Amino acid sequence: MEAVTHNLTGVVIQILCFKYLMAPYSYIFTMLFAFLSHFLIDALSKITYHTPEPRTEDKFWVIWHIIILLFSILSFGIFILEFWLGMLFANLIDIWDWVIIRNIQNYKKKKNSDSKWCAHCYFHPVADAVRNKLFFFLPNLNYRRIGIIPEIFLISCLSFFIAFLLI
Ligand SMILES: [Zn+2]
Repeated sequence: MEAVTHNLTGVVIQILCFKYLMAPYSYIFTMLFAFLSHFLIDALSKITYHTPEPRTEDKFWVIWHIIILLFSILSFGIFILEFWLGMLFANLIDIWDWVIIRNIQNYKKKKNSDSKWCAHCYFHPVADAVRNKLFFFLPNLNYRRIGIIPEIFLISCLSFFIAFLLI
């Protein structure tokens, strides 16, 4: 899923943990649940428009990604000061896999194209396994434009829930 969805999930988890638990459990469970939420949310991405490769020649793909990027930046801006812990751990697997490991791998491959460095360091295969085990019955909408609807629905639900919890 997109960063905004992970951000809002992390915010919800942190609000609930800090509402019902005392320190240090509020911190520990925020980190744990936010980290685990990534697997569930990414497994659900099966029913969202999520082409594995960028489609920069497709206008719909470009506009959707500009909108979703703006919402991701907006959610960072609004919640980062108060809910950085939940947001960090909700995005940790993407940061680890796509920012750290993939960039180091690309760097190593430039030096040695046969490099197999840390080929099994990725967390996303676990999300794939969760998807295959729990959500095998869901339709795959990764290449279907209608897949933006479930993501918009989820983002809206999370936003309303956060507003409800904070107001
Ligand atoms: Zn992910």
